[in-house]
Order: sequence, then structure tokens, then C-alpha cells
Amino acid sequence: MLNENRFFPVEATTRAIAQRLFHEIEALPLICPHGHTDPSWFSGNAPFADPAQLLIVPDHYIIRMMVSQGIPHSAMGVPTLDGAAFEMDSRKIWRLFAENYTLFRSTPVRHWMDYTLENQFGIEAPLRPEIADAAYDQISEKLNQEAYRPRALYEAFNIEVLATTDSCLDDLAHHKSIAESAWSGRVVPTYRPDAVTNPDISGFVENIERFGKITGENTETWGGLLRAHQKRRQDFIKAGATATDHGHPSATTCDLTQQACRDLYAEILAQTATEDQKEMFRGQMLTEMARLSVEDGLVMQIHPGSDRNHSPHVFKRYGSDKGFDIPKRVNFVEALKPLLNILGHEKNLSIILFTLDESTYARELAPLAAAYPCLKLGPAWWFSDSPDGMMRYRNLTTETAGYYNTVGFNDDTRAFPSIPARHDMARRVDCAYLATQVAEHRLLEDEAVEVAIDLAYRLAKRTYGYEDLV
Ligand SMILES: [Zn+2]
Repeated sequence: MLNENRFFPVEATTRAIAQRLFHEIEALPLICPHGHTDPSWFSGNAPFADPAQLLIVPDHYIIRMMVSQGIPHSAMGVPTLDGAAFEMDSRKIWRLFAENYTLFRSTPVRHWMDYTLENQFGIEAPLRPEIADAAYDQISEKLNQEAYRPRALYEAFNIEVLATTDSCLDDLAHHKSIAESAWSGRVVPTYRPDAVTNPDISGFVENIERFGKITGENTETWGGLLRAHQKRRQDFIKAGATATDHGHPSATTCDLTQQACRDLYAEILAQTATEDQKEMFRGQMLTEMARLSVEDGLVMQIHPGSDRNHSPHVFKRYGSDKGFDIPKRVNFVEALKPLLNILGHEKNLSIILFTLDESTYARELAPLAAAYPCLKLGPAWWFSDSPDGMMRYRNLTTETAGYYNTVGFNDDTRAFPSIPARHDMARRVDCAYLATQVAEHRLLEDEAVEVAIDLAYRLAKRTYGYEDLV
């Protein structure tokens, strides 16, 4: 099913260069510094339930495409929050997916799934209704084997380190149990404070209260709130975290006076804040998080510009992360200026910027990252995590920012078995890009080999501070 030249240039000279470059990096270990796998998989190491619950139900890339064709979430087994019925027969969910596999032609889901089915589960023909049951049985049988438990897969995938994304309110129990176990896998948390930095998140006021209880600080005061973050970040650092992550609606940052911060926070807690004030609060919190990063060294990731839960109907019935987050326009140049004015030249600060708005790559992000020492460009993200999306990213950023203001690849996945497929695609696309550079005599081939290794392995390791881990 998988062609060995997938994603490589068609022209013979360039293809041969891409093949040689890929040969140099194919077997490098995987560094997974940002993603959404569940730490309980690795602490409990229980077998995965079944093919549909593993490969389909949690994957919002799959669900959204099916829903776009009129198939309800409930038919795909997505649990409802309002008590409405949803499909619980995993074999039926799998069959429905197989019947609709044509929808994914030429999308990255198709490539990831083909790779996963062939390399992880030995299925060598594209999924179609006639083989759905046989494929289901073959995957189920494998999932019962010891070699398909989460820890064994982590090892088989040749993962060197994997970061999960964890709410600042999480007790980190699974991470503690992984660290205390005899298993040598490195699964580390990432500090995600959105629950207490974004007043639009449901339960915000209760979250602030819980945050106070967890940290023993009075989070109803501005000073107490900042001390609570300072402490909680230390808990995460002790559990192995090297980074924070911020999923804000925009990249807005602010630089308010202490008095203005106190007044703004009082309005936020009283729930009398306007939309503008809430945006200002999020912006001030990003600046405060950057200040704390200068102190404690956590790398800061900003993932802005997703209009979360665009459909109130879907949100009400199924909750968040169900395929209804839609990209919107983002401004970085003015939005980041308040933060950069204060901290842009700090040596101990590293901020990785991601975007879903590709129009910002060449105009805003590459020039910013190519000037400010604290800024780096994250890889092509989410809707752009695709062969064409990655190629557009390189084409639009490299001439201004080079390779060394970027940070290597993030698989950013909830679908654990797709991790090798995602890294394989990214490595191949980078080799294709580099092969063209070599063929056009813009780069020597031995330099391209170095860059390919950096993009596949060394940059992520260096940026996220994993150098001491191995
Ligand atoms: Zn993510």
C-alpha cells in the first residue's frame, strides 16, 4: 500500500537526492515535544480497547470529515453529554468508517491511516467495505497482544521523549506513577494554564478557586494568582516538564501597571468584565507567563487563532475537541509587541509561535522569528500538518528565517498509533524540500544532510531542553 517514494519529487535527479537524504534520517528516534496523548495509557499500560475506540472515535480529523457529509457524531460513537443515544458497537463504527474511507482521498488522514494500518497492523490493502470486518478482526487480535500495549508501542515507535499537554489543575498522578515505575520511557507533562488564564473557559471562577486550593495561595488576589502559577509550574518542572502551552483565541499580549492588573482581575472575578477586558486579561497573562519563563526556563508555546467550538449545537451535545474548531485571522506583529518590548531580548526566554493563518508565515512570523532572539517558529500545525501544508511552510519561511529559527516537528496528535506516520510524512516532505535546494545548487548535499538531521531530531531536542534526558 505504501510507496517508498511517497511525498518525494517526481523528477529523477531530485527524487534520488531526496531518497539519499531520507536514508540518513529514517531511523532516527522520534522526539514528540507537543501532543495530546493520555498519560494514563503509559502509567496503567492497559491494552487499548478496540480498533474504533483507538483509531476513530477520539480523532477529530476523522470525525469532522464524516460529519461534513451528514453523518452525525453519535453514529461515529462520540459520547453525548445530554443523554442522547450514541453508537456503542465498535464494529459498526468501524464499518461506517470503511464505507466512507473515500472521503479521505488526498487528505493527510488517508496517509496516516494507510501507514498505521500497514506498518502497525499488517493490513496491506486500502480500507474498503469488503475488507472492513477482516481488518477489524486483525487489529483487535493484535491489540490483545503484549506487543501492542502502550509502553511496548512507545518502544517500537522508537520514541525518545513524549510530552503530553496537561491542565495546570491536573494532579499529575499518572506522570508521577510513570516516573516512579521501572519503565525507562520518558513521558513528561506540559503546563497548560488556559483553565485559569482564559475567562471564557467554562467554570473559570471555580477553576481559580481550585487553583488556590492546589497551591495554597489566595488566588482571589492578583499577587496570589501569580504566586500560584509560580508554584504550580515548579510542580510540573519536578514532574519533567520543559514547556508551557497556551491555546488563546489571539496572540494579544499586554503590559499593564500593577494597579491596572489588580483592577482588571477584580472585574474578571466579579464576572463583570467586557469582551475587551477579558481579551486584555488573557494578554496580560501571556506576558506574566513569559516573565515566569524567564525565571524558571520553561519554553513557551503559543497556539493562537482557533475559533473553538464554532457550532454551539455540537458543543452542547458533544463538548469540545469534536472537529468544530475553525481557524481565524491572527495578527502577531502588533499583538506580541507589548510582550516583546519588555522581554524580547531576554536570553533565558524561548517562545514558539504556531499559526493556523498561513498568510502570516512570510509577512509576520518569519520576519519576527528572524529578528527577536526569544522567538522561534513552530512547525505547520493542524490544518497545515499535511504534505502541501508543510511544503508551503518551508517555501514561505525559509528565505527569511532559515532553518534554525524553527524547532523541528511536533506530531500534536491524540491518536497515539499515528505518531510514526506523522513523523514519516514530515521527514519525507523536508527531504523533498531540501532535495530541490540541492538540485538547484542552493545548498550542498552534505549541508542538506545536516539540516535534515536537525529538522528531524536535533532541533526539537535542543529547543525543548531534552538534551540532558538521554
Ligand atoms: Zn496541540
